[in-house]
Amino acid sequence: MFWLKQCPQCGGDLIDESDVHGTLISCLQCGRTLTPEEERALRQGLRQRPRARTPLPRAGAA
Ligand SMILES: [Zn+2]
Repeated sequence: MFWLKQCPQCGGDLIDESDVHGTLISCLQCGRTLTPEEERALRQGLRQRPRARTPLPRAGAA
């Protein structure tokens, strides 16, 4: 499965590279892999546009 232009780092294309070890979504352009949280959001169809990094204080967020 692909997600076009959804990479949170470079805005590149993400590909589902799930294997026997589990699920893994990585970027074709920069090689970044998504965190479990990012992956979950992606699979749920939450379109989070890559923007300038604005780290939010989410201490303890599950
Ligand atoms: Zn990328």
